[in-house]
Amino acid sequence: MKTINLLGSTGSIGVQSLDVARARGYKVEALAAFSDVEKIEQQIREFKPEYAALVDEKAADDLKVRVKDTSTKVLSGMEGVAFCGSEAKGEITLNSVVGMAGLGPTIKAIEAGKTIALANKETLVAGGRLVTDLAKKKGVSILPVDSEHSAIFQCLLGKPSNKALKRIILTASGGPFFGKTKEELKNVTLKDALKHPSWSMGQKITIDSATMFNKGLELIEAVWLFDVSPDMIDIVVHRESIVHSLIEYDDNSVIAQLGHPDMRLPIQFALTYPERFESPEKQLDLWEVGNLTFFKPDYENFPCMDICKDAIRVGGLMPAAVNCANEEANLLFRQEKISFNDIPRLIKEASATLKNKLDYVLEDVYNTDILMRETVRKLASS
Ligand code: NDP
Ligand code: MG
Repeated sequence: MKTINLLGSTGSIGVQSLDVARARGYKVEALAAFSDVEKIEQQIREFKPEYAALVDEKAADDLKVRVKDTSTKVLSGMEGVAFCGSEAKGEITLNSVVGMAGLGPTIKAIEAGKTIALANKETLVAGGRLVTDLAKKKGVSILPVDSEHSAIFQCLLGKPSNKALKRIILTASGGPFFGKTKEELKNVTLKDALKHPSWSMGQKITIDSATMFNKGLELIEAVWLFDVSPDMIDIVVHRESIVHSLIEYDDNSVIAQLGHPDMRLPIQFALTYPERFESPEKQLDLWEVGNLTFFKPDYENFPCMDICKDAIRVGGLMPAAVNCANEEANLLFRQEKISFNDIPRLIKEASATLKNKLDYVLEDVYNTDILMRETVRKLASS
């Protein structure tokens, strides 16, 4: 029986991870979230973890009172979350926290030798080499949960040698605004941006999908996960979200992974790897699917993909800078304080002020986070 520590348990990926754990009868040793007391209380009652944590101190105090009849120990703060991922008994730590807040707990979990199932892409984008080097040093596997990276990971199983890989092709749904021009994007609303055509996800990633910043993050995530250069990665818009990504070998053979857009499959594969079992995913009926379509991405009207590709080419702290600037700009858009096209503009302007360092330590990443967020806020209000 697998044992899991689940960080970000009350979110979209967290809840679907618990669906998988329930279906497979896995033991959940720890649950952690930000402040959703009601949902985590229900999860504690069902999964009976040894530990639970909420970042918000007041919410954690409330939770302690609510679950005092259970044997779950309640912790608080980011230290509590990190403890759940590193000290609790789960052999796999599934990190589905949103944003670069997930970085610290990922590092702690790797240091503790836990296998990492990673949904939290911002961890790899902001932490970059610090995370992958540490994982190598500790002999820890980082298994992708993101559907595109799970697809690539699955396509690469049985690859002849690293040299034979020519290209990774990331598929993108294109989000709710595919086909729109910058002019048309000027006045789109938060409500419009939250209407994703194929995936139901948390709000931050849904907005990242609308701006296509999500695909940029995924490009950087792929560079670190698969140890390839950014120029080996192409993006193709695939509206049906059935082909989850592809790889191309030197002989021009292209291998793809297909399935319905249901995150429970990549979550399950990260947890059961290297084995496969029945899953809640509906069987794929190609007659019913009918057509699969592919388009070139629109780099002109959706500049976030190039912002990310340029950032990883530059390297050092630049990927962290664009990620952190995006986290703040994405938040300001969700608070309806800025318009849609302000998001790429603010990321570009803020990251241009970065004094980059090619060799960096964790503290530099956190300082970049603070600086980029402040800069975006200043620029937005000027
Ligand atoms: P949600 O917003 O739905 O959930 C986020 C979760 O993180 C919640 O449990 C939230 O707790 C918790 N959380 C927020 N801040 C902190 C913190 N500082 N410490 C601990 N927990 C925290 O996000 P998603 O599930 O959609 O996304 C999670 C991650 O997975 C993101 O990195 C996203 O990019 C990635 N991902 C998501 C996909 C999806 O289909 N949703 C697909 C591929 C990747 P609370 O509820 O209390 O606020
Ligand atoms: Mg994805």
